[in-house]
Amino acid sequence: MTKSQYGKKVVKSVVLHRTCRTCQYWQKSRPGIPVRTHRCVKNHIGSARMIEAKAGCKAIQELAAEGTPVEILEGDGDSTLISRLREHHNIKLKKKLDKNHVIKNIVKKLHEIAAEKGTKLSKSVIGHLKRVIQYVFAKNKGDPAGMEENLKAVVPHQFGDHSLCTPRFCGYKRAPTVRYAHRSLPYQLPLSDPLLRKRLDEFFVPIIAKAATYTDLGSSQQNEHANREVTLRAPKHLHYGGSESLDFRVSATAAFINEGREYIPKVSLLSSKCWFLLIFKFSFIFYHITVFLSGC
Ligand SMILES: [Zn+2]
Ligand SMILES: [Zn+2]
Repeated sequence: MTKSQYGKKVVKSVVLHRTCRTCQYWQKSRPGIPVRTHRCVKNHIGSARMIEAKAGCKAIQELAAEGTPVEILEGDGDSTLISRLREHHNIKLKKKLDKNHVIKNIVKKLHEIAAEKGTKLSKSVIGHLKRVIQYVFAKNKGDPAGMEENLKAVVPHQFGDHSLCTPRFCGYKRAPTVRYAHRSLPYQLPLSDPLLRKRLDEFFVPIIAKAATYTDLGSSQQNEHANREVTLRAPKHLHYGGSESLDFRVSATAAFINEGREYIPKVSLLSSKCWFLLIFKFSFIFYHITVFLSGC
């Protein structure tokens, strides 16, 4: 079974264009003359940042109109789209955070702490904290109390304070008589910088407060896969957004994800050029048969 048969499908694709190549060319090269009639692609006025929210709104509204209302929105924590839908269209959606984006945001803030003057936080320690958080999220799925307890113990554990730890995730608590080595920390010793402890404690306060939301994290891996497939057909360094080319490329990506590679012969069979070739081929065979019959 191929991935196109069992994988998740693209149900909607929306393309918004901020520029139109034909309009641009006409305005630049023939100023004062009205733009020739053409299939203008420009369908967005405003900042590029608003495109995501506007396209999302359009897709959700169209899906609802077609009888497929959206209930849960998985995303990177940016709530512009949800608030826009609620304010302008009175559509209420449940928000689901994406695991990869949550971890990415935490790591980004850890790097910001590392850049602060006076704090000693190396890249290897950040990498270790990232792995710890990934582990905590994976082990406490659907368990808000366990998640909160686990998150509260993360920072003290790294500093050798195991008072909040439980044997479930702490090697020291499992065997207190044996010397516990922090295998992933420098020199296998706990962290000791008091300033770093203070900053990390402060940083973890909002994370612990949101512990319940992290118990049900979604995955936008399929979205990322679709994005990657689009960038293969419409690379960012080549500007396809000025013409319909981008629409065709996005549609081709959706067809590829939903149907697999077979979409190419299917589409070409439907195209008029191919029909013409088929008719030509059949008439050629018919001609040969007629010639053969008349020869008899
Ligand atoms: Zn135009
Ligand atoms: Zn511990």
